[in-house]
Amino acid sequence: MLVSIQNLGCSKNQVDGERILQLFVNNGFAIAEDHSASDIIIVNTCAFIKEAQEEAIAAILDMTQIRKNGRCRTLIVSGCFSQRYRENVNREFPEVDIWAGVDDWEKLLHSLLKDKYKSSKQNHSRFERALSEPIATQYIKIAEGCSHSCSFCVIPSIRGKFKSRNQNDIIEEARWLCEKGTRELILVAQDTSFYGRDINTNLITLLETLLKNTQFPWIRMMYLHPQLVSDDLLTLIAAEERLCSYFDIPLQHISDTILKSMNRRPLSKELYRLVDRIKSKVSGATLRSSFILGYPGETEKEHSELKQFIQYARFHKMGVFPFSPEEGTKAYNMRPRPRGATVQRRCDELMSIQQEISRELLEEKIGSKQQIIIDRVSDDHDFNYEGRTLGDAPEVDGRVFIQSGDFNPGEIVTLKIIGASDYDLYAEYTA
Ligand code: SF4
Repeated sequence: MLVSIQNLGCSKNQVDGERILQLFVNNGFAIAEDHSASDIIIVNTCAFIKEAQEEAIAAILDMTQIRKNGRCRTLIVSGCFSQRYRENVNREFPEVDIWAGVDDWEKLLHSLLKDKYKSSKQNHSRFERALSEPIATQYIKIAEGCSHSCSFCVIPSIRGKFKSRNQNDIIEEARWLCEKGTRELILVAQDTSFYGRDINTNLITLLETLLKNTQFPWIRMMYLHPQLVSDDLLTLIAAEERLCSYFDIPLQHISDTILKSMNRRPLSKELYRLVDRIKSKVSGATLRSSFILGYPGETEKEHSELKQFIQYARFHKMGVFPFSPEEGTKAYNMRPRPRGATVQRRCDELMSIQQEISRELLEEKIGSKQQIIIDRVSDDHDFNYEGRTLGDAPEVDGRVFIQSGDFNPGEIVTLKIIGASDYDLYAEYTA
């Protein structure tokens, strides 16, 4: 029996997909790459914004074709899109056998295995996952849901309030990954910095316990909330070499008018101070942020406040997203919305400022020696390998193209930086 999966969306969803696959592996299934050869196909979806929903629908349509023509006996749709829309769309996709939600997938899939596949082994470990990426870099989910209520965001209504995972479970999964050979562990949640508030602990305790109980050379956190980046957290990151001095803090905007309408805190003055605090307390820190442009009520005034801010903050990495009105959110009915062409122009303006900042910051690294994790042998004939520095998270940040040396993927090596482009670096091995 074969099972295959198409994972869409973010790293948190990828981890969920790997847990779903593991349930089938535990019940005797092998994982197939080719959907048309599979007995069970899973489409693990995202529904964060309109594009993600369209991508989910396209993937479901593709798989329904394969379900009709291939060997597949069961088509499962899981993840955020399924959770959000299954009641509305299930009639439109009669080929989908199971719409699994984010909180009932285990129950539904256990029943499927028992009733249709007569599988007796129902046990499912709390942490094992059928890993889909090379072992060296792995995500670990430390919580589910979000207790903030940003006016534009559907996540709390899909995934519920923030719910921390039990610390022992996280440590157990981390040790399992460490023993398998993971070198870079990446903590993910909707708001990593909120960890523990609902179970009487906190992120600092989790990090200290992780450091004590595992040997990962790199531990990275994604998605910190600006309200919760405390001085104690900065002190710990500054003092502990194994914690990457990498700060991924989506700020969404800088104008107080927009931040208030977004129901986000802190406001502008504190956000400026946050950038200063990180830079002064953690030397060599990498800052990453993202912003929503074209939010209702954003005029040229708010846009130029944002331009000024990014010129001040000089983020190493930055992303911008056009506002996506999502049904069921407060921002959905807000007006006036800037015109599409205006939003695009604002996105282009910000990204062209950022491109220059990024290049300048990367050029400062030329001549220095940097720790680099080797991700893969390069497809590009001009280079031997591709890797990343401590300041680059996988998928979202830049890469380091390596011209010489003989390494194994997953190794962390010290290399000399010999060049920079807008978003990437070039390095070589020097004895
Ligand atoms: S903190 Fe992030 S996930 Fe939570 S409501 Fe705001 S944007 Fe959504």
